[in-house]
Amino acid sequence: CFAQLVNDQNRILYCVVCFAVNLAQLQRFQDGREVEFALRYAADALEESCREGDILARAGDDTFAVARVSSGPEELARWLELAMARLDAFAEKHARDYPLRAWAGAYFLQEGDRTPGGALLNAQHAAVAALEQGKAYLIGDEEWLRGAARERQFMHQTGAALQKRQFILYLHPVVDLHTDRVIGGEALIRWQHPERGLLAPDQFIGLMEREGTIGELDYYVMEAVCVYLEELAAAGLGDMIVSCNLSRLTLADPAFCRRAAAILDGHRAVWPRLVLEITEGTLSHKAAQEDENIRWLLDRGLALALDDFGSGYTSFQDLHTYPISLLKLDKGLLDCAVDDAGRGIVEGLIQFGHQLGVTVLCEGAEREDQVQMLRRMGCDRIQGYFFFQPMPARDAAELVLQKQAT
Ligand code: C2E
Ligand code: MG
Ligand code: MG
Repeated sequence: CFAQLVNDQNRILYCVVCFAVNLAQLQRFQDGREVEFALRYAADALEESCREGDILARAGDDTFAVARVSSGPEELARWLELAMARLDAFAEKHARDYPLRAWAGAYFLQEGDRTPGGALLNAQHAAVAALEQGKAYLIGDEEWLRGAARERQFMHQTGAALQKRQFILYLHPVVDLHTDRVIGGEALIRWQHPERGLLAPDQFIGLMEREGTIGELDYYVMEAVCVYLEELAAAGLGDMIVSCNLSRLTLADPAFCRRAAAILDGHRAVWPRLVLEITEGTLSHKAAQEDENIRWLLDRGLALALDDFGSGYTSFQDLHTYPISLLKLDKGLLDCAVDDAGRGIVEGLIQFGHQLGVTVLCEGAEREDQVQMLRRMGCDRIQGYFFFQPMPARDAAELVLQKQAT
């Protein structure tokens, strides 16, 4: 059908849409005939949504594909809304007590797409991305496709990059407002990519989280920070405190205790100066495994920081459950402190932290007036561009040594 209908003249008017239905879930709870019934319903609903000239096909066990002419993303979005609504109506129409769920991805054909296979693959990738992002559908435009291709390429590179030690430790110095001195910093990772240059974490952390490889990076950074703390001590900077980030997924790793012990036990001397940052998401996502791993760290006397506080959904009960040593207020809170309400929130949270007996650090101070305000409010520490940008960890050590000398 594709070869008959799609040609060089009309190719770029077509898009391919891939619908995936929740077949595995249906199979778990329904017998074969019922599953068949739901799948037939999906086929009929999609057929009703199609007009003459569209191509509808079963493209896999749980996948249907539609090739259709569309005037552009807006028209396609309207059509997708209707088609998805028809699929959604299944339970109500047939008085079933279980839903037929579907998610979709779409791809507009390009000049070079002569066979349907590549286009269908792109549409399928868009459908997977929709599912991952919790959306009903995703229309993959050119920019998305470029990003997806880059991701696929990156995905294969991160493992080798770790082995080749292309990930470089940076430190974002932290200033203590009571003494106006650098008291250490946060370890932030950068990827020195052989072709793309120095990459910031937002270009690979999310991808590694999605691919489940973030743990490898986190353990790598944990080890690097331990070694760095030893180097600092050897250079006479034995009182510097360095924190490192633990992704939510790393904390949910069943092998966490074993792997963390393999690293940490070799560097016991640095434990008092090591802080492990966990994000708000970690605490609100109370998987038993995460709880066990957090307690394991606490049992060893390791200090925990709650990162990005104020940007997520920490339950205040969690703050009671886990003794946190350091509360890191998110930059977003400071950005809101431009009126009385915003300032009230920041000041209130600083006091709240102090009532809990924890040190309060504010992230993201870029201007002098912000620093003065935080000082007035009694904030203990600042990590922000007003004082420093993140820098290679070695430079940070040099910086502190120089400051001490002057
Ligand atoms: P984060 O842990 O909240 O780190 C703070 C981020 O805020 C850093 O960005 C830092 O450069 C930035 N920042 C601090 N002060 C300012 C400021 O005044 N202005 C602005 N515009 N930004 C400021 P960076 O280095 O890009 O890191 C982003 C995120 O990547 C980190 O957020 C952290 O969640 C993640 N990340 C970095 N390294 C690692 C790692 O080794 N493991 C894991 N799991 N995540 C990491
Ligand atoms: Mg952090
Ligand atoms: Mg943060």
